[in-house]
Amino acid sequence: MGTPQLTVQQIAQVSALVSEYIFAQRNEYVRQCPPLTPEQKATMEGFFPPNLLDGVGIIRLDGHRVANPSFYPMLAEMGFANLPDFGEMAAITFSNVVVSHVPFTDGLLFHELVHVEQYRRLGISRFAELYVQGFLTGGGYDAIPLEVHAYGLGARFEASPRQLFLVGDEVLAWIEESQY
Ligand SMILES: [Zn+2]
Repeated sequence: MGTPQLTVQQIAQVSALVSEYIFAQRNEYVRQCPPLTPEQKATMEGFFPPNLLDGVGIIRLDGHRVANPSFYPMLAEMGFANLPDFGEMAAITFSNVVVSHVPFTDGLLFHELVHVEQYRRLGISRFAELYVQGFLTGGGYDAIPLEVHAYGLGARFEASPRQLFLVGDEVLAWIEESQY
């Protein structure tokens, strides 16, 4: 349901399109994005290294929403259903740029920073490839391992925001264990 059987070549093609979309969105928003506030950095210190926190831009959109990729109709033709609607998401991370439709809570910011760490370790192309593969294997957005991990680590943070752990180590472990 919602997950077509694609050839290896088709998966590579879709992954390349997603990767291009992420690059383009990052480049569109990066110039408008202020850095994290000192308060946000203080809350996230101990979970993320300073160079990650210093390199992130975040923006809350006012009056417009992130557009779905122009290739969505093509994916629908290939048999993709229940594609995530970007305009309905609380926030989306494009590499080191976090774009939000709602006010940032600590929990939301943490989730998105896990994605920043994943991008840092994997690179945009590999992130896109794993995201597409995860969607196809799991049958939808909720089962994408990159998301499952970000939600899991986010829940751990929200349960005890002072119990420090390094997200980078957790991400590295999942990469080494091929869990993405
Ligand atoms: Zn996410």
